[in-house]
Amino acid sequence: MSSGRQPVAVRGVVRGRVQGVGFRDTTELTARGLGLSGWVRNLDDGSVALHAEGPERELDQLVAFLKVGPPAARVDGLELEPAVVEGFEHFAVRGIGSGSFVVQEHLATRRHFDLRLEVGGVMRSWAVPAGPSLDPAIRREAIEVADHTRLDAGFEGAIPNGGVIIWDRGSYERTGLVPWPEALDRGVAEFLLNGEKLRGAFTLSRKAGRGMRSRWSLAKAPDEQARPGSDVVADQPRSVVSGRTLDELLETP
Ligand code: MN
Repeated sequence: MSSGRQPVAVRGVVRGRVQGVGFRDTTELTARGLGLSGWVRNLDDGSVALHAEGPERELDQLVAFLKVGPPAARVDGLELEPAVVEGFEHFAVRGIGSGSFVVQEHLATRRHFDLRLEVGGVMRSWAVPAGPSLDPAIRREAIEVADHTRLDAGFEGAIPNGGVIIWDRGSYERTGLVPWPEALDRGVAEFLLNGEKLRGAFTLSRKAGRGMRSRWSLAKAPDEQARPGSDVVADQPRSVVSGRTLDELLETP
């Protein structure tokens, strides 16, 4: 039935001496060179996991590479199974930080939170009035605001008529089917946060408008880090830098 040009997908694991020998990066280069899409990731047990999709002939060529790997590798086992074609538009290395993120709690005219993700050397920013949530049933309004510099995103302290605390920070990883920053341009950005309070997969989806003041929704994906019924903003109000709440900072600047 297969025409050979219909995309097919495989997913699996490569075992052996496959980390620290350029296996992951060579797999990425090979897959991209073949026009395949998907992802490759080093696992904690020393193996390499991957998902690849595209035309059958090119997929067979990738599998031929995976059986051997780059010169310093030694492949002891290749376990690949047919998988669902998910519609990836690029081939990406997973499990590597894409940059820093920060969530600041900010009192200016109104009290709100600012989510900032490092993209292309600046911190793309969204004001989230109610703050983020770890409950996947909750969608929080997020208004895109002006980019910040990385320096501004590290600020905590008093400002005229207000203050800022660093409510959470860490690194993040871009996921999803579409490469960044195009994912942001199209209005659906999926990412994994690796912070002290916020962990796991989140999605930003644009609802209305373009550019500054566009309205998005921020939601936790239902994964192992989701906490249904929780209220992380109320339960963990303190700065991850100073241990102060924003109220404490405002009282004793
Ligand atoms: Mn703000």
